[in-house]
Order: sequence, then C-alpha cells, then structure tokens
Amino acid sequence: MLHIEGLTKQYKTDEVELFALKNINVHVSKGEFVAIVGPSGSGKSTFLNMLGCLDRPTSGSYVLDGIEVTRLKDKELAGVRNQKIGFVFQSFNLLPRATSLRNVEIPMLYAGVGMAVRKKRATAALQRVGLGQRMGHKPSQLSGGQRQRVAIARALVNQPSIVLADEPTGNLDSRSSMEVMSIFQELHAQGVTILLVTHEADIAQHAERVITFKDGCIIKDEQVIDRLFATASEEVILT
Ligand code: ADP
Ligand code: MG
Repeated sequence: MLHIEGLTKQYKTDEVELFALKNINVHVSKGEFVAIVGPSGSGKSTFLNMLGCLDRPTSGSYVLDGIEVTRLKDKELAGVRNQKIGFVFQSFNLLPRATSLRNVEIPMLYAGVGMAVRKKRATAALQRVGLGQRMGHKPSQLSGGQRQRVAIARALVNQPSIVLADEPTGNLDSRSSMEVMSIFQELHAQGVTILLVTHEADIAQHAERVITFKDGCIIKDEQVIDRLFATASEEVILT
C-alpha cells in the first residue's frame, strides 16, 4: 500500500540547514494501524506531511497504491491528496460557518461529485462516526470530540487508501480522546489503513504497530500485538 525508500527532508532557512528527516524507510500494508511516536521536533509532523502530500521530500521515493507520488506535478499531486488521502489535524480545521454535513461534503466538491451523491455519502460518513444526529450543527455547537469526529468523517468520505492523523487528540480532554480513539479502533476493525502521530503513550497503545522517531530517524519499529504475545508466552514459560 505504502512504500517509502530513502526519504529525506531538508529545511533551509536564512541561518541554518536542517535535516528534519534522514533516509527514512517504511512499508505499511493495507489495514495496518500504525502509531508514530517520538519527542517534540523529531520529525513526526514532517513525515506525516510528506505522506499526506502536503509537502514534498528533498529526496527519496514514496509509492502510494502503486503511484510514485514524488514524480507527480502539483496538480496531479492535489488529486492524489484529495482522492487517496484522508488527513486529520490536531486543530480539526473545520469551516466554522458550515454545518457538519457541509464540512464533510468538501472533499467531494473538489472531486466534482454531484449534489445528491454528496449528501448521501456525507450522511453515511457522519453516521459511521456516530454523528447522524448532528448533521445540521456548526462546529461551535459541538464538543471537541464531536468536532474531531466530523473531521474524521471528512477524511473518510472519498474512501481514501490511508487515513493520516497528526496529534488528533492533542486538543481534547481525556474523555473526548477516548471517544476519538474508539472511532479509530472501529475504522481499523473495518480494514481502514491508519497512521497516527501522538506523543502520548496511552494513545499509541491503541495501534498494532509503533514506529519511534528521534532526530529525523526511525529508531524503533515494533508490532504491539507480537510484543503482547511474546510477554504472554514468556509468562507461560515462567509459570
Ligand atoms: P515533531 O512533529 O516531531 O514535533 P516536526 O516534524 O514538526 O517535529 O519538526 C522536525 C524539525 O524540523 C524540527 O527541528 C523543526 O524545527 C523543523 N521544522 C519543521 N517545519 C519546518 C519548516 N517549515 N521550516 C524549517 N524548519 C522546520
Ligand atoms: Mg508535530
């Protein structure tokens, strides 16, 4: 589904040149739920922005669904971003004056989907995140957790190949965080491929694989399920 080889990102400012990502290699299969963790400034957001085609790498290869994304022109890249990628932001990024339904329709407007189909699919996406009763509400009339669920519905509505989320619970209290993470777990159970950035250990626990960044490099990449099994079987041996 997703192949990253030798991905590097260099930021140049007036004073300094900085490698935010250094030779990153990652493969993610369809249906995986991956958490990306690491200290502040380690390159997590830079990495997710490359995957989301919000920015271009300095060098390296990124293949998504068989498409070498790094070779695409800007216009083609915008198409991939809209059709194949669902992005969830820490600050929700909803249009404040628009209803939930309208917010969720936006990616389909870009894709040129007709009004009747837009309504139908936006309604289904909102029902999928448990907001069937909040379709006419504006963001200011919703709780933080509900706003993020609208943003997740928007990310899902074009049936993307991957859903990317950068600190999706960063602005939420613990109850709303759990509400949002249970949605991600449901999506994972339905086969959606998810990469989620967090610096909170209890949030990362929801994923089946945890990739750790440090100083622009991957220092650890482990399967949580395997680790749990390993601990369980060690206990069996010990007892
Ligand atoms: P994280 O999300 O893990 O906190 P980031 O990916 O935001 O880390 O940042 C990685 C490094 O790249 C940091 O040193 C940060 O200061 C730098 N950086 C991020 N964005 C830019 C930018 N647009 N211009 C210059 N440097 C940047
Ligand atoms: Mg970040």
